[in-house]
Amino acid sequence: MEGNHRYVHGNMKRHDFSADRAALAKGQNPFASILSCADSRIGPEYAFDAGRGDVFVCRIAGNFANPEMIASLEYSVAVLSSPLILVLGHQSCGAVDSTIKQIKNGASFPGHIPSLTEALTPAVQAVENQPGDLLTNAIKKNVVLTVQKLQAAEPILSEAVNQKKLKVVGGVYDLNTGKVELVSSE
Ligand SMILES: [Zn+2]
Repeated sequence: MEGNHRYVHGNMKRHDFSADRAALAKGQNPFASILSCADSRIGPEYAFDAGRGDVFVCRIAGNFANPEMIASLEYSVAVLSSPLILVLGHQSCGAVDSTIKQIKNGASFPGHIPSLTEALTPAVQAVENQPGDLLTNAIKKNVVLTVQKLQAAEPILSEAVNQKKLKVVGGVYDLNTGKVELVSSE
């Protein structure tokens, strides 16, 4: 969050990529893992003013946890000892918006895109009748549901959470300000 504060206020550190590269050839020791949307406007390393080797980033449109994403995060926790997973949603997420259009207007999408909207359907349905903006609510709900799914993912992540070696938290990135607002997982 300190890194995000630097990013929001334009006080980023100077990153020496060539020195980092040489040091990192020997190994990695990320202080956090991030499950982010693939949206090109996000850039998790930028958003937290992080360098190479700092954050273990898994990205998929709609930032949900399929088995391959869980496996990647398991690796970051079990092998690299990452103590934190952040599920990072964002304002105006196209994947969540497409899911809303499918549910509300019966829109259909080509190729493999329905596999994304299928995965995001529970989040949209959970907030469908809530007051406020449906897209904003669904983006938040998707983050919360994904946090809960990762916390409960057996055997590796759930055990690390129980042993207090791992925290799973959620946040939403604001496209205008660059600020990440943490989301309560209640
Ligand atoms: Zn998105």
